[in-house]
Amino acid sequence: MPPPILCVSVCNLSARNCHNILPAAITSLWTAQNLFTQSLILLPLNPFLSVTAEYGVCENLRKLEITGVSCRDVYAKLLHRYRHILGLWQPDIGPYGGLLNVVVDGLFIIGWMYLPPHDPHVDDPMRFKPLFRIHLMERKSATVECMYGHKGPHNGHIQIVKKDEFSTKCNQTDHHRMSGGRQEEFRTWLREEWGRTLEDIFHEHMQELILMKFIYTSQYDNCLTYRRIYLPPSSPDDLLKPGLFKGTYGSHGLEIVMLSFHGKKAKGTKITGDPNIPAGQQTVEIDLAHPIQLPDIENLRNFNELSRIVLEVQEQVRREQQEEEEEGQDEEEGRSRQGDSQQAEQPAQKDDAGAEGTEAAGAAAAQESAPTSQPFVLPVGVISRNEDYPRTCRMCFYGTGLIAGHGFTSPERTPGIFILFDDDRFGFIWLELKSFSLYSRIKVSFQNAEAPSREAFDEMLKNIQSMTT
Ligand SMILES: [Zn+2]
Repeated sequence: MPPPILCVSVCNLSARNCHNILPAAITSLWTAQNLFTQSLILLPLNPFLSVTAEYGVCENLRKLEITGVSCRDVYAKLLHRYRHILGLWQPDIGPYGGLLNVVVDGLFIIGWMYLPPHDPHVDDPMRFKPLFRIHLMERKSATVECMYGHKGPHNGHIQIVKKDEFSTKCNQTDHHRMSGGRQEEFRTWLREEWGRTLEDIFHEHMQELILMKFIYTSQYDNCLTYRRIYLPPSSPDDLLKPGLFKGTYGSHGLEIVMLSFHGKKAKGTKITGDPNIPAGQQTVEIDLAHPIQLPDIENLRNFNELSRIVLEVQEQVRREQQEEEEEGQDEEEGRSRQGDSQQAEQPAQKDDAGAEGTEAAGAAAAQESAPTSQPFVLPVGVISRNEDYPRTCRMCFYGTGLIAGHGFTSPERTPGIFILFDDDRFGFIWLELKSFSLYSRIKVSFQNAEAPSREAFDEMLKNIQSMTT
């Protein structure tokens, strides 16, 4: 709907509806960027205020009226100026990463940090807290406030560095300090971030990891640089809907992973990370061309049997890759003999695309012929953070999982099994670690997070990966 028409329909709504629709209306108005300038010219000087006068109570509009801020000011000083920071972002905070969603909410722009639920409750909803807000109040320019800490909003600053990057700064970091000093700050963080007490973690192996994260992340004091991330593009052929998931990562707790599809491969990219595998890295890769038929339920308990099946597929994949490489070399030699590499390259590319198409179709066929549901149980000896995992699954595929030492040393892709449980859950068995990760979909509809193109999405994945290597 073009802005002027939308504006007219807002004016015709009842006061109650108006309250519900206004934030959405404002967002639609100014995300239609091409029409933005046009709307400024075509809008009546103060259309929203006339709504107030006619229909009475409408909180946001009353605020506007009381503070004497015109609709034009809201556009020009708030929405137009800060429209580029709407959407999904990942903070640059060492290996840890994070997920920030910047949205319009009434007359505010708010940066919400999304946190996974407490470990190991992977099916619980995401938690969120505001890190900053921007609004127009008495002053005639937009005010940025830092929301970090427990003493309420205070003076902050936002700098839009370039198109897909901005940074936040707190001008009053004393507002983050607590009267009980570092110990109270740590206890509070522990309760909020992990749902634990100091006594809880005293005997646990993970206490070092927890303490390290606190020391590392709290030194930033909400002075962070953010890089834009997009939600993965989807296609009707995808095995399941791509998107964001919460996953269990042993002592590291729950982490946020983005699942995306790339031809015959699916990738799980870390949006949050840890000192072993940092945010931005590809934690799991699923080989959709190599489905795995699980043994029946009795034999599934036997880890060695499962291990044998997976290693067989690994060997097969290795052979196929070798053959492909050899074929590639043959083609290259043929090409150089022809002496016209330009012309020979194009049919070769077409062949590649054809092969990919066939294999993807193969995976789809396997999907159709596979039983809709089969019993599932973890092999004896495989450690799971959560005993409450699904006991039936739809399909399994061969895959690899990335493991590394502290500080991302000696990273290595190791064999594993991807298990599709249902539309919203999947799992991964890390063969070498003898451990299991359970992933559950993040059911939040993030606004302004669509990738403008598949190329832009691929480019984004590459960028966030290179940040930590
Ligand atoms: Zn602050």
